[in-house]
Amino acid sequence: MLENALKLLKELTSHDYKAYIVGGFVRDYLLGRDSQDIDVTTNATPKEIKEIFEDGFLPTEDYGSVIVNKYGIRFEITTFRKEFAYQDHRKPVEIEYIDDLYQDLLRRDFTINAICMDENGEVIDFLGGRDDLERKLIRTIGDAADRFQEDALRILRAIRFATVLDFQLDSTVSSAILETRHLLGELSYQRKKEELDKIFASGHAKKGIDLLLEYHLDKNLELKNLSQVENTDSLIGIWSVLNVDSIYPFSNNEKEMMENIRKVMSLNNLDPMALYEYGLYVNSVAGEMKGLDKKQITESYNALIIHSRGDLDVTSEEIMQCLNREPGEYLSDIYEDIEREVLYRRLPNQKNDLLSYIKEKFASVC
Ligand code: ATP
Ligand code: MG
Repeated sequence: MLENALKLLKELTSHDYKAYIVGGFVRDYLLGRDSQDIDVTTNATPKEIKEIFEDGFLPTEDYGSVIVNKYGIRFEITTFRKEFAYQDHRKPVEIEYIDDLYQDLLRRDFTINAICMDENGEVIDFLGGRDDLERKLIRTIGDAADRFQEDALRILRAIRFATVLDFQLDSTVSSAILETRHLLGELSYQRKKEELDKIFASGHAKKGIDLLLEYHLDKNLELKNLSQVENTDSLIGIWSVLNVDSIYPFSNNEKEMMENIRKVMSLNNLDPMALYEYGLYVNSVAGEMKGLDKKQITESYNALIIHSRGDLDVTSEEIMQCLNREPGEYLSDIYEDIEREVLYRRLPNQKNDLLSYIKEKFASVC
């Protein structure tokens, strides 16, 4: 990945532009961690970048980052810039393209995110980012409270990087979070959720949750159930316990799944009907959130007598024949009844047993 990234830088520098890898890739490379994509900073303007990389395109809502997909890597190429007066504690009202790398680095959030690499792979570190990597410290560039006032999302980014990298917050960051946390209320739920997703899916979600609680951010983020999250193996499981589907944005599929997970969590452990109705995935997540053994859940699921209606040893034709009736709504009542009886092992899944049970219970009703 690095080699290809340096090739991309050389394409820019061969056109007499300055270009550096910056941000997450350099940080993660120095930490020996994999990266998904690569941020590049350059004095070439978006128009000039697009002349070099013809398949590059400009995402509309961004301030001039050009996305280039090359060598199977997603590059986000951003022109050196200065940002002015922030609006709603999130967006700069105005930006100015500049020619100076150092000035561009000053607008970035944390020292560990402002380390660069040039086209020869040389590390450039004007702001002490490497020291902070070594000390495992999240430190802002400039005064922490000022930087959080400008853009409150940085508060959550601080918690996210501390969580994902298992770093500590510098004491200036800690006190600035307490001072500015009320500004989180002004951010969109979408942006907050993106950061929370990364915190919860980091593999260190417990640490992230503890940090959010320590700084009382659960209040500002409206996550009133946060202290009730005991198990953190599953992202959707965590969101289910938080029960904020009506505030934070989720797809209909996710909403339905979270509702089902909560339903299963409220039932008896390993309930056969719940295993049958909601399936292995929902039951595994619900079980994990309650601290049950995953293997036991799978075993209980596999041990169910039936896994779908088709597994019943009787067909609709046979039921209708037995009751001497035409098809109708009544069939689904019968199915629900015999599914339950079979699953709770009160009725064998054998044609004769099923039919005589049906005849006895439903013939009189018909
Ligand atoms: P990752 O890509 O692993 O999530 P990243 O640090 O690369 O982490 P990006 O969101 O890709 O984060 O941003 C790239 C760089 O842009 C950051 O490293 C940082 O230098 C700068 N940056 C991003 N968001 C902000 C912000 N809200 N305030 C200041 N600088 C930012
Ligand atoms: Mg990045």
